[in-house]
Amino acid sequence: MNKNEEVIKKLKLRLNQTKFKVVIIPHISPDGDAVGSCSALAEVFRQLEVEWHILTCDYIPEYLRFLKNISRAVSYQDKPEWCRQLIAEAGIIFMLDHNTMKREGDLEPWVAAAGALRVIIDHHPDPDERQWVISDTRVSSTCELLYSVISQIWGKEIINPDMANALYTGINTDTGGLSHNSSRPETYRVIADLLELGLNKAYIHEQIYQMNHLSRLRLIGNVLLNKLQVDAHYPVAIMPITLEELNRYDYKDGDLEGLVNIPLSIHHICVSIQITERKERVKLSFRSKGEVPVNQWAKAFFNGGGHLNAAGGQMNTSLEEVIKKVNETIPWFFDHLKTGFSEEE
Ligand code: 5GP
Ligand code: MN
Repeated sequence: MNKNEEVIKKLKLRLNQTKFKVVIIPHISPDGDAVGSCSALAEVFRQLEVEWHILTCDYIPEYLRFLKNISRAVSYQDKPEWCRQLIAEAGIIFMLDHNTMKREGDLEPWVAAAGALRVIIDHHPDPDERQWVISDTRVSSTCELLYSVISQIWGKEIINPDMANALYTGINTDTGGLSHNSSRPETYRVIADLLELGLNKAYIHEQIYQMNHLSRLRLIGNVLLNKLQVDAHYPVAIMPITLEELNRYDYKDGDLEGLVNIPLSIHHICVSIQITERKERVKLSFRSKGEVPVNQWAKAFFNGGGHLNAAGGQMNTSLEEVIKKVNETIPWFFDHLKTGFSEEE
């Protein structure tokens, strides 16, 4: 039995033992995989009549709110005391699509202090081994892994069309519509199962990709036309976005989703970096093609991490300083790409 199977077996026993409240937490700035997995897992507990709560440290973007159970998610920004109470009372806390409590923003100290069993279900490298960990970096998404966890604990029969839709949302969005991280046959077996279990693929595509506002297209158009810079010497594209531009184009959470992938469609570009100015910090998103570990770059200089081809980070300095830092560290990154990245960096 492998390690994940052992933890799943232990978890199954624990779930059958006592009555408990469940808290489910996605990562900060939740994406389709984080929200899809929360939606599907909550639906298990709703069917079993177990008390459950989805808690977020910030907000679920508008375009994912159609998913089942997500309208009930509570943000720490709106109800901090209620969130603290639910975390303190929880018997089990599920940490979905992230590998450490550090990715839970303002919820982190309360989750760290909780007496609950903490279970990570995730596909990022280096999960926090102090928790119960169900993790696999080979899968396309947390949703793909969660499908297997749910099947092993409760059986496929518990998966209804709403859960199939939520799980597919995570698989689809984390792979850029099945373009990257999706070369394993298993991913398509899961999708085939989900179709048999009632997945409405056309509906999900419509909800995720065909609900844009004109202002979002204008925002993206402006960035691509006026802001995209391609480095003269290295295969790197950089897109800085100011707070003023976000306001000008009526930015809403999720409006920049997917933008960072577009420069990778330029034939010679293998790294794309989006640098977005927010009220309190500057957020970086890294994407790459092939064996180019941008998570090393994010980790070494930008307080971040992530996957080989998709990583992120943040800085508390000005947008200009972050742009400067990115430009200054380009040669470092490409030198190490040749010589290898040591663990200390
Ligand atoms: P995104 O660019 O979509 O925000 O993030 C891409 C990937 O990098 C995601 O899988 C996410 O988990 C990871 N990531 C984003 N921001 C951070 C961060 O600040 N720290 C770490 N460790 N990972 C991050
Ligand atoms: Mn994910």
